[in-house]
Amino acid sequence: MTAPLLKVQNISKSFTLSGGLFSAKQTLRAVNQVSFTLNKNQTLALVGESGCGKSTLGKMLALLTSQSSGTIEIEGQKTTGNLKPLRQKVQMVFQDPFSSLNPRMKVGNIIGEPLLVQGKPASTEQVKELAQSVGLNSGDLSRYPHQFSGGQRQRIAIARALSLKPSFLIADEPTSALDVSIQSQILNLMKELQSKHQLAYLFISHDLAVVSHMADHIAVMYLGEIVEIGPKKDVLQKPAHPYTQSLLAAVPKLGKGKRQPQTSLIGEPPSPLAPPLGCAFHSRCPLAEERCKREAPALKPYGPDRQVACYLKSGGAP
Ligand code: SF4
Repeated sequence: MTAPLLKVQNISKSFTLSGGLFSAKQTLRAVNQVSFTLNKNQTLALVGESGCGKSTLGKMLALLTSQSSGTIEIEGQKTTGNLKPLRQKVQMVFQDPFSSLNPRMKVGNIIGEPLLVQGKPASTEQVKELAQSVGLNSGDLSRYPHQFSGGQRQRIAIARALSLKPSFLIADEPTSALDVSIQSQILNLMKELQSKHQLAYLFISHDLAVVSHMADHIAVMYLGEIVEIGPKKDVLQKPAHPYTQSLLAAVPKLGKGKRQPQTSLIGEPPSPLAPPLGCAFHSRCPLAEERCKREAPALKPYGPDRQVACYLKSGGAP
């Protein structure tokens, strides 16, 4: 059996916040004990409310920040020691194409920059090919980012990310800063590029309609933990975790039909500075029982290809 392209085992990330003059240091638990695998040509969408740790997890997988504990393997290689060769395999596309591109650099230089950093300067032909692959033309290469629309800037960012021929791309809300009319163009471009290059995507989004279009699998995060992970169809059509049900209930088109949830999302998530004992969702879960307040449920198999962290689902899929 071939090894997965990405294997994440029990990764956590905490930040120490320095206290003020009269207060002690605090620990912010951004990501807690996350594990999953991802194969080439697959998209795992990461969903959850803002502040749930999605972007921190994305940055760890993009090797932009290190994990506090746990292991990440990319194509069988652990992310320890010299990261330069691994950085070629993983690239990130950020949410805001207005701030992620250097305004003083011409587009051609922006696209070729990662190759330059790796000590392999791009030829003009290479840069032209990359630009064409995302729908830009060679005349665009001598222009500056401010001369482009948001959608075109995101195309530039994608071309830059592809310059090192990565096998894994992390896209953090790549269309949320764009007009709705442009979003589908960028999403379709990403799909085309995925099948052309057999790319694996970690697609971070709060937009379940976009996730439904892009994902093969979905991981639902709450307060730094994955509470449900499985094939898109299962998670969207028969959400098992009360939090997933609540998220879907907030999207009328996706929440209608048989799978009407028994829960509705009330209140705010607890602070990651003081995560609650027991199930992290218990303070908002109308199905919470006494034991939910004492002990955290583990992520357990629920059906053949899904895992759920909820005591009510510990008997397995119906
Ligand atoms: Fe709700 Fe308890 Fe399940 Fe947590 S473990 S989601 S509190 S029922």
